[in-house]
Amino acid sequence: RPRAAVVVTGSELLTGTISDRNGPWLSRELAALGFEVAHVQLVGDRPGDLTRALQLAAEDGCVLVVTSGGLGPTADDLTGAVVAEFAGVDLVLDEAMQARIAGILAGFAARTGFGGPALEAANRKQAMVPRGALALDPVGTAPGLVVSRPGGPLVVVLPGPPRELQGMWPAALAAAPVRELLAGVPAASARSLRYFGLPESEIAATLREIETQQDVSDVEITTCLRRSELEVDLRPLPGAEPVAAAVHAELAAKHARHLVSADGTSTDELLAAALRERGWTVATGESCTGGMLAARLVDLAGSSEYVAGGVVAYSNAAKTDLLGVPAELIAAHGAVSPEVARALADGARERFGADVGIGITGVAGPGGGTEAKPVGYVCFCVTTGDGQVIARDPRLPGSRADIRERATDAGMHLLLR
Ligand code: ATP
Ligand code: MG
Repeated sequence: RPRAAVVVTGSELLTGTISDRNGPWLSRELAALGFEVAHVQLVGDRPGDLTRALQLAAEDGCVLVVTSGGLGPTADDLTGAVVAEFAGVDLVLDEAMQARIAGILAGFAARTGFGGPALEAANRKQAMVPRGALALDPVGTAPGLVVSRPGGPLVVVLPGPPRELQGMWPAALAAAPVRELLAGVPAASARSLRYFGLPESEIAATLREIETQQDVSDVEITTCLRRSELEVDLRPLPGAEPVAAAVHAELAAKHARHLVSADGTSTDELLAAALRERGWTVATGESCTGGMLAARLVDLAGSSEYVAGGVVAYSNAAKTDLLGVPAELIAAHGAVSPEVARALADGARERFGADVGIGITGVAGPGGGTEAKPVGYVCFCVTTGDGQVIARDPRLPGSRADIRERATDAGMHLLLR
């Protein structure tokens, strides 16, 4: 596969002030286009470091480099100049772009009253384009660039703010030199399998077994464990699609009990589709997850169709007052108990007039565990208006944060059943 590289710039990313969101996003996009991503480099706003990062990409045979950041009007924004030097050309004023930026700034000034000559002068810098390069229309005020280096990689230069970078990406892909490059990249028809509660070691054993039966060397197989979900991606090289299809079918059949989806659909999408199909609404009564399940449920656009609402009933009083959990029930079984989980589910369902209710109560730790109810012990219950009850009380591993995230995952999967 042709190789691509990502270079993310910004000193604020190296101090840990903000975490990089562009590297992972671009990696996924490039992999989906069929590139092998050689590396994601994170460099500060120092020209020498950026130059070396570009050189490494060239030495490693990358045909495409995508950079993020450093396109702004300030002095530490120097990506354009460095990339021009890398391509062996000088910077020239793109007058059409300058006019566009001036227009954007005038609109900005009219809306906010913020503007003036200093800002305009600073933004003239943003209209400086490496000679022969293609400028991409700004999503904010900074234009992107597509710069070819003779005999070297094509460099796509994008702004740092993730919204601007993602907004400019379609235009970058549509630029003629990029389109030309993409025409020679074999399609990456990835097949994905998603499992819940399946240990990674079991998939590894199954894959070893499959490898003894057939040659799978032309299928790139990656497994990724994200908390309690395990994702397996199969990417065949040209000609290996039938092998990938066979492996996919075998993996789906072998661990069918744990299989969530075999077509890349996420748990959230599956749950949304299932609730919509039945015309059901859901309500949550959460203790240890503190609203994380409700937040997860409203993550997808259009969730108002199937989410009625939720209550964070953390204290015993809140469980009783807000969701009608009998105080005697808490006294008899403890706040973390299957009985209380069920009462939370029923209470949430009834208070919100929903079709399905889910209750979650557990010991998130690090303190508060007992021998009978250790840290990580979480009780779940899903109840429906027509009398169905599904209950679980697993012991989840990890830190307080892990336990609460795993409990949220488990809640999603229990609702899916
Ligand atoms: P601007 O015109 O906004 O200055 P720019 O291309 O110069 O655009 P940067 O100066 O590198 O972009 O970044 C501007 C802001 O965008 C950063 O302060 C940060 O909040 C956000 N940002 C930049 N790069 C990243 C990144 N890789 N991940 C997440 N956020 C980022
Ligand atoms: Mg900047």
